[in-house]
Amino acid sequence: MQFAKCPSCGSDINVGSQSRMGQMFTCPACGEVSEIVWLDPVELDWPLDDDFAGDDEDETDELLEEPGEWNDEGYSEDE
Ligand SMILES: [Zn+2]
Repeated sequence: MQFAKCPSCGSDINVGSQSRMGQMFTCPACGEVSEIVWLDPVELDWPLDDDFAGDDEDETDELLEEPGEWNDEGYSEDE
């Protein structure tokens, strides 16, 4: 678990143990949103708006867990 300082108020924000560049965090103390700009040590800064055209990326890379039902009764691995 790692902590980084809020660029706004200087509070320690828990960024977890698997922080990535560009990951966004909301400061629990002041409510400002900041982004990880460096990883070693973890550093938070204001989010960079590289695309300010107003397009919101839909993050649709959810894990697609298909509830596949395996009816392997009667299946024999013995040969
Ligand atoms: Zn803050």
